[in-house]
Amino acid sequence: MRRLQTMTTMTRTVLLMSAVVVPAMTQMATAQVDPRWKIHDPDRPLPAVVQPPTASTQESSGRGPSDAVILFDGKDLAHWAHNDGSAAKWKVENGYFEVLPKSGLINTREAFGDCQLHVEFREPVPPKGESQGRGNSGVFLMGLYEIQVLDSYENKTYADGHAGAVYGQYPPLVNAARPPGQWQTYDIVWHGPRFAKDEKLLQPARVTVFHNGVLVQDNVELTGPTAHKARPPYKAHPAKLPLSLQDHGDPVRFRNIWIRELKTE
Ligand code: MG
Repeated sequence: MRRLQTMTTMTRTVLLMSAVVVPAMTQMATAQVDPRWKIHDPDRPLPAVVQPPTASTQESSGRGPSDAVILFDGKDLAHWAHNDGSAAKWKVENGYFEVLPKSGLINTREAFGDCQLHVEFREPVPPKGESQGRGNSGVFLMGLYEIQVLDSYENKTYADGHAGAVYGQYPPLVNAARPPGQWQTYDIVWHGPRFAKDEKLLQPARVTVFHNGVLVQDNVELTGPTAHKARPPYKAHPAKLPLSLQDHGDPVRFRNIWIRELKTE
C-alpha cells in the first residue's frame, strides 16, 4: 500500500514535470525550426549577405562587418556621451580612445537590446595597482550588466571580478588575458531580460562571451544587474538601453567597437 502510494506520488510528480517541461521543449523546437517552411524549401528567404569584419592585429585595428553599427572607428567619440548628455571627454588619439579618469562613464547615444558586440581594449603599461585597482573598466550591457574589464594578467583578485567575469556573478571559465600593453578582444552575445506588462520578470538576461577568442561565458543567466558586494534583483526596464563603458579611474584604452542588433522575439 505504502509502495503504491509512493508510486502514485512519483507518477504525479513525473506528470507534473512533463506538463511543465514538454511545452517548454516544444517552444524551443518551434523557435529552432520554423514550421512555415519545408525542409530545403526553395521558397524560404535567403540569409542577407554581410561583408564579414576584417581582423585586427596588435599594430592596426580591424573593421566591423557591413551590417554593424560602428561605435568607434578610430576617429571620434560621436556615438558616446557622459551621463548628463555632454560630449564624451575621454582622450582620442592614434586610432584608440582612453578613459579620462574621474570624467565619468560614457554611454552610447543610441539604445540597444539583444546584440552581438565586439570590443577591443588595452591595459596600461607599466601595470599600476593591484587586484581590482589594476586596469579596471567595464562593458555595461544596457548600462546595467557589467562584463568586467581588468588587467587579469598575473594579477591576483577574486574570481568573479576577473576580466571576462559577469561581475559578482560568474567568473570567466578560464583566464585568457594577454599581458598589459597588448590589444585584447571581447566578443559578446547578449539577450536582455524580458519583462511582462506588470513589470514581472519573464526571462532573465543571458550572455555568451569570448575573451581573445576563448569562450569565457557560456550562455549564463544573470541574477539581475551587477553590483559591488551585492546582487540586486531585476527591475523592469525598456527593451533597449544605451551601452556604457566604465570610468574606474584607470587609463584603459579601447578601439574597434561595433555592435549588431539581433532580431529575436
Ligand atoms: Mg569594472
